[in-house]
Amino acid sequence: MPGFSDLQQKLDALRSGNMYRKRRNVGSRQGRTIRVEGRELLNFCSNDYLGLAGDHRIAEALKAGVGHWGVGAGASHLVCGHTEAHDELETTLAEFTGRPRALVYSSGYAANVGVINALMSLGDLVCEDRLNHASLLDGGWISRARFAWYAHLDCDDLDRQLASEANRKLIVSDGTFSMDGDRCRLDELVNVARRRDAWIMVDDAHGMGVHGAEGVGLVDPGRYSVEDVPVLVGTFGKAFGTSGAFVAGSETLIETLIQRSRNYIYTTAMPPAIAVATLASLAIARAEAWRRDRLEDLVQRFREGATRLGFTLPQSASPIQPLIVGDPQAALDMSHGLEERGCLCTAIRPPSVPEGTSRLRVTLTAAHTDADVDRLLCALGDSRSALDQARSTR
Ligand SMILES: *Cc1c(COP(=O)(O)O)cnc(C)c1O
Repeated sequence: MPGFSDLQQKLDALRSGNMYRKRRNVGSRQGRTIRVEGRELLNFCSNDYLGLAGDHRIAEALKAGVGHWGVGAGASHLVCGHTEAHDELETTLAEFTGRPRALVYSSGYAANVGVINALMSLGDLVCEDRLNHASLLDGGWISRARFAWYAHLDCDDLDRQLASEANRKLIVSDGTFSMDGDRCRLDELVNVARRRDAWIMVDDAHGMGVHGAEGVGLVDPGRYSVEDVPVLVGTFGKAFGTSGAFVAGSETLIETLIQRSRNYIYTTAMPPAIAVATLASLAIARAEAWRRDRLEDLVQRFREGATRLGFTLPQSASPIQPLIVGDPQAALDMSHGLEERGCLCTAIRPPSVPEGTSRLRVTLTAAHTDADVDRLLCALGDSRSALDQARSTR
């Protein structure tokens, strides 16, 4: 029995398998460029899709919020930490998503685990897409409900899984898949859910702000009612450029979460100033449609350019554009090559993605220019040639 004595060995094994992860110290605010360990680099790996994380107006809103509320919320929501600022944000989010109510959590991770765990238990069935975000999987596992995978986007497989007996049945899917940029087939999911008497939970962390009218995301309330998609999750740390998350749904859902969701009840409320800043960023994201248009143009420019260079891109209309290279060492080499050429794009390796699909997860933001994308394409072509050359002479 090794106990804890093999911790260092396990770390060494990660290192020798090219799976060791290192953090980089960033020395500037988020934007089209960031300073990393003293070097200014074009940033192609943030989730700051609308370019709002470093926006001065949102920073000013935060400052005003701190001026009024101070910093700490002081307590959990149910004790005395739920402020008028949190409440206003919830009301605005309910209106934005076309749902009766919304509930703010401190992070998307907490929301996903907290919601599934509150709704599901012994005797229930949770069905999740194979490529769902880790927080959705953790929520399913922790709930003690029976857990089933279905093959990525495969609603026939899902339908088979849902045929078995269970008390409650919950279908859980990313809206836009975080590592691949493709979208769930919501119409099909809604049909299967109806047939099998299941609920759908969609986590649209990467779609909200980015797609749809005013950036409402995949779950357009004009098309999908609260009965179609009873549980909708969005996060603030991506397109909205702040921090935290929310769940939107029926009065009954939200009241159930307030009574039962451990990740909501047993944690300090997010700082009220963050709620104030998020209200500001939500208004900006909804009003400034040019950011979504810009992003769409950049995505098209990147896809055309990368295809011309001979890269094969999976279907993705989102700002997430994965270049799958397979082997973790190859992903690291490409990432280093890009960095030498002034572009930051960190390698994504298992367990964040399945074995054999290590990749560069290129992300674009509304802050990028056409010239930035061209520079990235140039760097991609050059680093690949340099790597091919190094390999053939090895
Ligand atoms: C980032 C992400 C989360 C977690 O949100 P945080 O607010 O960063 O904790 C949840 N779901 C998906 C799909 C994500 O990509």
